[in-house]
Amino acid sequence: MQEIAIHKKIINVYISDKMIDTHCHIDFDEFDPDRDKVIERAKEKLNAVINSGYGLESNAKALALSKEYEGFVYPTFGFHPVSSQNSPQEEIDAAHKQMIEHLDEILAVGEVGMDFFYCTDKALRARQQEIFTGFIEIANEYKKPLLIHGRDCEKKIFNLLKDYDNIPKVIYHCYGGSLKTARKILDMEDHYLSCSTMVCYSQRHQDLFKEIPIERILTETDSPYLAMTKDERNEPANVALAVEKLAELHEISVDDVSLQTEKNARYVFGI
Ligand SMILES: [Zn+2]
Repeated sequence: MQEIAIHKKIINVYISDKMIDTHCHIDFDEFDPDRDKVIERAKEKLNAVINSGYGLESNAKALALSKEYEGFVYPTFGFHPVSSQNSPQEEIDAAHKQMIEHLDEILAVGEVGMDFFYCTDKALRARQQEIFTGFIEIANEYKKPLLIHGRDCEKKIFNLLKDYDNIPKVIYHCYGGSLKTARKILDMEDHYLSCSTMVCYSQRHQDLFKEIPIERILTETDSPYLAMTKDERNEPANVALAVEKLAELHEISVDDVSLQTEKNARYVFGI
């Protein structure tokens, strides 16, 4: 079994132009009617899909999916800031417990973070930071990669992380902050910026990711979100569109982008 897996990995690295969706939510209800087909389509183009847990229930589903589609779907456990900000402390504590119980099965702590775009209330923002800090401490204590949701507060998050030395890898999922903060992040070893399918249609994201070295980029869809049009449901296979756009922006081949970003993802998440 081991030999076959190793053999397959060598072949993939050597000849395939496959890629990895490092952040999506295929556990969501939106995929209930045809999840199998979505994963089948993903398998045609991708080598792996990382399903990011959104909260207690979503984390459990992500874990179940990783067992059902073993070796293709991988889970991370988190608690999205916009839903956790109003949750009772018992629920936050339960998420900590759930995370610690499944540490060996999850690739990262996340998505966790802060969202100042959706949350403008001062007290709630402070609560988001308090909750986020709790999760940062778990990543730091147990040396797990930290998968961050940060919106309109990327610099604040960057500064918060300065107090922690034991987080092995840091991923800014769907990065959309300034180029200035991006450069600071890139100065940190093993900190990565994740480029979502938004790069296909957002000029701002194109301008940004044109300046980020491919060696520090991960690719993702954030499915079911961030599809090409508002009415569409995004799906992991569409990560190919982000890879194509990155190739265009960096004026290199699609194969070069997919091989490098896959290598980055395997390194960051240890798969
Ligand atoms: Zn997400």
